Amino acid sequence: MTYTKSMSDISHILNHLGEEREKYFGSVSPPIFQSSNFCFGTVAEMRDALKNEDSVPFYTRGVNPTVSILREKVAALESAEDALIFGSGSAAMAAGVMSSVKGGEHVICVKKPYSWTYKLLNKMLINYGVESTMVDGTDIENFRTAIKPNTKLIILESPNSVTFEMQDIRSVAALAKQHNITTLIDNSYSTPIFQRPIEMGIDMTVHSASKYFGGHSDIVAGVLTGSKKKIAEIFQDEFMTLGGIISPNDAWLMLLGLRTLKIRVERTNATAAKVVEFMENHPKVNKVFFPFSKSNPQYELAKSQMSGTGGMFSAQLKAKDIASVEAFCNSLKRFLLACSWGGHESLIFPTCTLYDSQNYGTTELPWNHIRFYVGLEEPEEIIEDLRQALEKI
Ligand SMILES: *Cc1c(COP(=O)(O)O)cnc(C)c1O
Repeated sequence: MTYTKSMSDISHILNHLGEEREKYFGSVSPPIFQSSNFCFGTVAEMRDALKNEDSVPFYTRGVNPTVSILREKVAALESAEDALIFGSGSAAMAAGVMSSVKGGEHVICVKKPYSWTYKLLNKMLINYGVESTMVDGTDIENFRTAIKPNTKLIILESPNSVTFEMQDIRSVAALAKQHNITTLIDNSYSTPIFQRPIEMGIDMTVHSASKYFGGHSDIVAGVLTGSKKKIAEIFQDEFMTLGGIISPNDAWLMLLGLRTLKIRVERTNATAAKVVEFMENHPKVNKVFFPFSKSNPQYELAKSQMSGTGGMFSAQLKAKDIASVEAFCNSLKRFLLACSWGGHESLIFPTCTLYDSQNYGTTELPWNHIRFYVGLEEPEEIIEDLRQALEKI
């Protein structure tokens, strides 16, 4: 696929864009502006700053100079005009959704989105008169038939982070434009290094920056990108009102993470390809879920809109019971048993943790389903670890 952004553009964004070093003594690493408020020499200066509260430091719930560097970098990475940084991915999603729909209006969202996105629509916004339809996003016709006269927003997550179903991003964007519907995508899995939805016609992107952007399992943060106009509206309403901001200190950690975003995702992408190949050929593995797997029914779509996958995949084991899945998980030495992903460390999230060990569950995901995230360890070491643990089944 062709991107408008070259590798040297990305390098410039990550290493230099938005940093005004001459303003802070040539400091190569930007300062952490650990200040809640900013003062002025005269009433006239203060009045001016207040008029431009969305771009000038006045109070840190609005603009903070450390956070502003992130806004520029993240917007440029996503080919968006502007961005806002939040205290979590969920806060970013909530702001993006609430800015696009009101009581009496309708949202279409892909089935099985991130769990708290589901809850936002089906437990919270429903109380404010916002109706949602969850659709199987693998077929564009499902979006077309779900559109109602009052549909204002389509929410995508491509791929999702458990079974990796994708949506044809360009087709959904084109359909939404015909009907004057805003589109928002959770792009956490791919990062803008591998997938840039705004270049494909989507209006807004959301990321859990707790994952790849931060990259070191040290912060919880989120981002929302979009047009100047849309972001300015969200700044005045959801952002300032709900106040779900990132702290200056965490913003600085996210900046540190972004420096290596490209090399980290490329590394986990390369490792995942090797690990997935090993898993697909192992007799104790039933099925592997991975966007770039040849057995993925959406393989062609994946290749047409993503230039890489990052380090996450799922597998279903050929195990006779939950106890043998647990034996596999407990035998792994290089994978930590934990939620989240996108950091330096390899992780597993077994579905059977959602069931007690005697109850084989009724949720859509079977008990032998495990989500794997490969981090920055040596691929051979990871494969060796999986090999010994698979023997325990
Ligand atoms: C983690 C995650 C989120 C939520 O982000 P937080 O930073 O945990 O609030 C949203 N979407 C996806 C795909 C995620 O993995």
